[in-house]
Amino acid sequence: MKSNTSVAQGREYLAIPGPSVVPDAVLQAMHRASPNIYAGELVEMTHSIIPDLKRVARTEHKVAIYICNGHGTWEAALSNVLAPGDKVLVPATGTFGIGWGEMASAMGAKVEMRDFGKTATMDMARVGAMLEGDKAHEIKAVMAVHVDTSTSVRNDIAALRQVLDDLNHPALLMADCIASMGCDRFEMDAWGVDVAVTASQKGLMMPPGLGFVFFNEKAAEVRRAMPRVSRYWDWTLRADPEDFYQHFAGTAPTQHLYGLRTALDLIHSEGIEHVWARHERLARTVWAACETWGQGGPLSLNVPEPAHRSHAVTAINIDPPLATALREWCEVNIGLTLGISLGMATPGDPAWHGHFRLGHMGHVNGQMIMALLGGIDAGLKALDIPHGRGALDAASSVIAGVA
Ligand SMILES: *Cc1c(COP(=O)(O)O)cnc(C)c1O
Repeated sequence: MKSNTSVAQGREYLAIPGPSVVPDAVLQAMHRASPNIYAGELVEMTHSIIPDLKRVARTEHKVAIYICNGHGTWEAALSNVLAPGDKVLVPATGTFGIGWGEMASAMGAKVEMRDFGKTATMDMARVGAMLEGDKAHEIKAVMAVHVDTSTSVRNDIAALRQVLDDLNHPALLMADCIASMGCDRFEMDAWGVDVAVTASQKGLMMPPGLGFVFFNEKAAEVRRAMPRVSRYWDWTLRADPEDFYQHFAGTAPTQHLYGLRTALDLIHSEGIEHVWARHERLARTVWAACETWGQGGPLSLNVPEPAHRSHAVTAINIDPPLATALREWCEVNIGLTLGISLGMATPGDPAWHGHFRLGHMGHVNGQMIMALLGGIDAGLKALDIPHGRGALDAASSVIAGVA
């Protein structure tokens, strides 16, 4: 497969929307012998992690740390606030919204699923009409995905809160911020989010393995009224441990905690506002290139409206099977891995080969994004895929701040 003109040898670049690039400093912090988990440095360090995590989510409330991936945080959050038979509203804009709803359903909740498609944000008027029809206030929670990584749609979580408030609807507002936290602006308290979940391997620049559930007093109240909560997922002790062991309901995720400490230091030394601004600039760089390519060929951004686009991930459509051909060319020839299609078509369906995604979340900077775009540009040429010329020029103008 590797041709003799391949220039893949060198440091590889995984540009998929999670797991994201892990900074060397994080890897080095994790590369150590097992520490004592009962006393000393690790215990102290974990206490210091809590306020810094809350600063990333922009909340003064509680956070529970779990040893799990994003799916685990979905289950953790739902376990604390949903009893079998409870009703929830799921306005979905991609696979992850649907998946979270299916999980609620599997846990015995009555799920009102509203699929808003794959290319634009949820329609707030329709969400409002749904909630307005719920005169008895049976809907206990609205479960929204901030950035749906499958489609790269970014939803307006603050507007969703406004809809609930305007109707005086008491449902909890739950947000999946797995792709967005540390990338797209997210303000848990200011936006009135009651429960937010995220995981370590995207904007937080860590390997997968840690999950985080943030919750406020309103959500804690709902938890207290629950008939029972699975012991492992119960957030009560984890968020308010009397001793360190209870933080994790078992052995602490030792090396991961060292990595997380370093990742949070990177975020806060840059400043969260700057982190968001960097992602915004880099996302605009990606869009500028894609729009230029699209002027002369089949490539197009999946989300037409810029205000509906994530700053962490970009889903791209192109005639099948060109997406797969392009991904393979980049991987084999230049050491660049692009993200596969997710949720846009069923794997096995030829249409699946017409979508790919770029991750630009976490530890990414201008030269990496230029390299990512340059690699795709080379792939389009090598495969003779028609495309508009000048994409890299458009991209570097955004980086330069002159576009
Ligand atoms: C990645 C992701 C998930 C799933 O996380 P896993 O760690 O793969 O379980 C859920 N929701 C969103 C928005 C994601 O980006």
